Amino acid sequence: MSTIQAEKNKGKTEAPKVYEHYIGGRWVKSESGETFASYNPANQKEVIGHFAAGTANDVTKAVDAAVKALESWRKMPAPHRADILLKAAYLLESRKEEMAYTMVREMGKVLKEARGDVQEAIDMAKFMAGEGRRLVGQTVPSELPSKFAMAIRQPVGVVGLITPWNFPVAIPSWKLFPALVAGNTVVFKPASDTPLSALMLVEVMIDAGLPAGVLNFVTGTGSKVGMPLIEDPRVRMISITGSNAVGKVVASRCGELMKKTTCELGGKNAICIMDDADLDLAIEGAIWGGFGTSGQRCTAASRVIIHESRYNEFAERFVKRAIALKVGNGLDPDVHMGPLVNKDQLTNVQKYVEIGKSEGAKLLCGGKVITDGECANGFFYQPTIFGDVKPNMRIAQEEIFGPVVCLIKVKSFEEMLEVANGTEYGLSLSMYTHDVNRAFRAIEELESGIVYINAPTIGAEIQLPFGGIKQTGNGHREAGSTAVDQFTEWKTIFIDYSGRLQKAQIDTHPSKNAGAN
Ligand code: NAD
Repeated sequence: MSTIQAEKNKGKTEAPKVYEHYIGGRWVKSESGETFASYNPANQKEVIGHFAAGTANDVTKAVDAAVKALESWRKMPAPHRADILLKAAYLLESRKEEMAYTMVREMGKVLKEARGDVQEAIDMAKFMAGEGRRLVGQTVPSELPSKFAMAIRQPVGVVGLITPWNFPVAIPSWKLFPALVAGNTVVFKPASDTPLSALMLVEVMIDAGLPAGVLNFVTGTGSKVGMPLIEDPRVRMISITGSNAVGKVVASRCGELMKKTTCELGGKNAICIMDDADLDLAIEGAIWGGFGTSGQRCTAASRVIIHESRYNEFAERFVKRAIALKVGNGLDPDVHMGPLVNKDQLTNVQKYVEIGKSEGAKLLCGGKVITDGECANGFFYQPTIFGDVKPNMRIAQEEIFGPVVCLIKVKSFEEMLEVANGTEYGLSLSMYTHDVNRAFRAIEELESGIVYINAPTIGAEIQLPFGGIKQTGNGHREAGSTAVDQFTEWKTIFIDYSGRLQKAQIDTHPSKNAGAN
């Protein structure tokens, strides 16, 4: 039997395992004794595993463990912490295939994308291992003689990480690795649709030699695990990636508690295609950007804004390509697009397709749940394209998070920028043009955290900042060395070795009575 067939059959032959929380260096049951199941979205009859349904008391125990481990972990020299991350990188490399297969079975993305998801974690582990020998501070000249001025980074303390299901290994790694290298201890709550992928990442960290209590893992719902994590006063920071609605709830409560919070939220990204664009390239980009991960990416290109002179040609060829996409089980190498992650996601996509129709957009292809053949037991949806979409329609404004792309026609470059910027989100925008002046104007004027020229809205690399503006985020960036900013606090230090009292702002400006801080 082929590996793919063996993987497809896995759930049918083996009884699903029961998995526990990982707290204080031990695998433990939920104090409630209850579990929840994770299902294969390509075949909902297949249970991937049963997972501990966490409670507030489980969270308290996890925070106890993280508090206990903090003192020795933060005092361990950062290069030694980094050695553990480097080991984790090599372990991830050796388990990449196994983790990717599990991810496909658990959340549905196609195998090569799942491999990319694990690869992102490998890249991040290596990058953050390097940070262990940097974690750069600042030294600056003092305005006074015989006085030394510098700022150093210190860990925030115990941090809570809350993650979504669409990048079940990569996104946790974006938070976990910078948090750990900076000397924080962690309580990690993964999404309930992808607990096994997250658990495999935790196993890697254990095998890499992470001391007990430094990483604690509690599975369960947002209300029963996420909220208690936020409420615990010993948790100094919450880093969440998720929907805008949840992010607002979390950020509001953290605001009341004066807790450091970083939010990476939704997007309504757009590919802009100017009259001089290479249309072959733009079509490939729009297919990958719109239908990669079944449109379930925060950076998905759910809008394509096209100059009127190329609109008809683009629409016709784009629709042909979309109809030819093979939808099915992500373990099948011929499949381009897997299922949606769960029933709610499927219902939501169908709801938006009905909204689009009622708003007067023209359904050019797709628009239906797929229920036949191999797709009968999964959450499959046809690649869907709406034409004649007006920029203010709900389908062009709200995040759908599925394989639905809206085509919007514009008359000029100026209008293209205006429409691209005309949503409440600001994550990723792209421009296809060969005109260097327009390209630079787009870079300057597109309102988003990420801009691509002649490439779709997806394809970020971990060595540069990742995140968005407006409703997409609250001013922080993940990835790159900027990720370290999230997980450290600055401590500013003045060392006066003059042996006398020196007054800043006053002694240096005796004639002007400046401030006295
Ligand atoms: P979600 O908001 O439903 O859940 C995200 C996480 O928050 C989950 O672990 C969930 O259990 C938890 N949660 C839910 N309610 C909570 C509460 N009240 N308190 C604490 N935790 C709570 O999002 P999702 O459906 O898992 O993921 C899809 C969303 O994530 C999309 O909107 C997508 O755009 C966004 N996303 C953003 C980025 C980015 O970097 N900007 C990346 C990936 C996904």
